Amino acid sequence: MALRTAEEYIKGLRNQNREVYIHGEKVTNYVDHPCVRPVIESVALTFEKAFDPEFENWLVKDSDLVKGPVNRFLTVHKSQDDLVSRVQLLKMLTPQHGACVGARCVGQDAIHAAYITTYDIDKKYGTNYHERFCKWLAEMQEKDLAVSGMVTDSKADRSLRPEEQEDPDSYLHVVQERKDGIVVRGAKAHQSGALVADEHLVLPTETIRPEGKQYAIAFAVPADTPGIIHIYESPAGTVRRLLPGAGEMDFGNATYGVHGASLVIFNDVFIPWERVFMYQEADFSTEMVEYFARMHRLAFCGCKAGHCDILLGACMLAVEYIGLTKASHIWEKLVTMFQNSELSYGCAIGAARLGYATPSGGYMPDVSLTNAAKLQGGRAVAENANLAMDIGGGLLCTIPTQKDWENGEIREYINKYFRGKAGISTENRIRISRLIEYLMGQSSVIPAESILGGGPPETQRVMLRVTLRQRAGWMKERAKVLAGIKE
Ligand SMILES: Cc1cc2nc3c(=O)[nH]c(=O)nc-3n(C[C@H](O)[C@H](O)[C@H](O)COP(=O)(O)OP(=O)(O)OC[C@H]3O[C@@H](n4cnc5c(N)ncnc54)[C@H](O)[C@@H]3O)c2cc1C
Repeated sequence: MALRTAEEYIKGLRNQNREVYIHGEKVTNYVDHPCVRPVIESVALTFEKAFDPEFENWLVKDSDLVKGPVNRFLTVHKSQDDLVSRVQLLKMLTPQHGACVGARCVGQDAIHAAYITTYDIDKKYGTNYHERFCKWLAEMQEKDLAVSGMVTDSKADRSLRPEEQEDPDSYLHVVQERKDGIVVRGAKAHQSGALVADEHLVLPTETIRPEGKQYAIAFAVPADTPGIIHIYESPAGTVRRLLPGAGEMDFGNATYGVHGASLVIFNDVFIPWERVFMYQEADFSTEMVEYFARMHRLAFCGCKAGHCDILLGACMLAVEYIGLTKASHIWEKLVTMFQNSELSYGCAIGAARLGYATPSGGYMPDVSLTNAAKLQGGRAVAENANLAMDIGGGLLCTIPTQKDWENGEIREYINKYFRGKAGISTENRIRISRLIEYLMGQSSVIPAESILGGGPPETQRVMLRVTLRQRAGWMKERAKVLAGIKE
């Protein structure tokens, strides 16, 4: 069974226990929880689309570890083309869900880093981590499991090294070495999709010095192992899903729109030796972390370009709905948004195209282009959100709820006064505004109010154009005098 269906993935989760707390409550049926199910639906797409002719070339790949095709999220990049495909796949997949598939995507970056670094550790120390790792990876491929990538420790005092912390558990570490394996304690923070993954691949979070070698560990662990506890995220937009009477129109992206990160606590968790891939080789911690980070930054650019594409689509619809398809300042803003995201995407493709082989055979993208692309991707999302607020208008702050819309006493007012262009449904205007609100990540009116309160930015630009024209004569006069122009 090398490719599972989406249904098999979800059925598999139902057979796994989790200790999880959501909004302060211990939850047993996490699979059907309204704040978790959307994440499962996004990750399920990575299974479903493997059978879709449009996606299968991107999502399915032959493995050199097992017979037959496997899911690409469980593979190592062995060429420049593989690296390019990594970026392109996310650019195509993200607009399908508009959320996050971290339970597979971050895992692939951890897989890649561990594959290369275990090879390098063995070369120096004569250990057999690489063979162990490949055996584990073959099992993941055979069973087509969702693997999350766990790197970020809780870290406490950031000015101190792991071994200098007041609480030794601030970084995940080994508390017991046994004949059959190790026992680990600590936590990994902000773990995308960890709750809905089948397996976790855990790496160190930063450079470890020889004095802190107990923190230089990498291992894999099945997600239902006793001692693993999740405290699940509660961003404002997601919490709306818990509101009595809230409906699908209120979430912007009802089916998929939850990120799904958790604080994952390892309360004395046992890891057998065959799943340990680094043990106290502190001198390889930098390599493992940097390879993970570089791969994840590369993938991020495809994902964020996909998000920008959806935001662009939503903004174009929003302006169509209010009859402004020809307004030139709106088109300038849309082009700026597009340029912002294409710059990051193109830079990431360039980084992948300049990828090079490591001794293990795994390929790495160019380091400076990858980091520049990631910085530009983050800037694109932030700047595009501001531009989208401007384009979306004040409705983004005052969108009626589904309950308002369904209330017969006020529906007609909403329909009449939030109407856009004749012939356009008010409900569609409400729906696209909610999607923009979701994509902008707006949880308070402050950012939008700062942009739109007192009139949208174009109105201030109009006034500036007027006053600039009024003062132009004097300004040009001063310039002529200083330049010695007499006529
Ligand atoms: C939604 C989301 C999903 C994520 N998913 C994953 C995941 O799937 N897997 C995973 O492993 N991680 C994940 N992360 C974690 C992410 O990698 C970290 O948030 C990031 O590395 C920053 O770490 P931090 O959150 O501890 O920030 P902090 O360390 O609290 O940073 C706060 C500020 O302090 C600065 N700072 C920190 N340390 C120092 C220092 N020593 N010297 C000077 N300045 C310093 C930082 O630059 C930053 O400006 C996710 C994060 C988010 C928000």
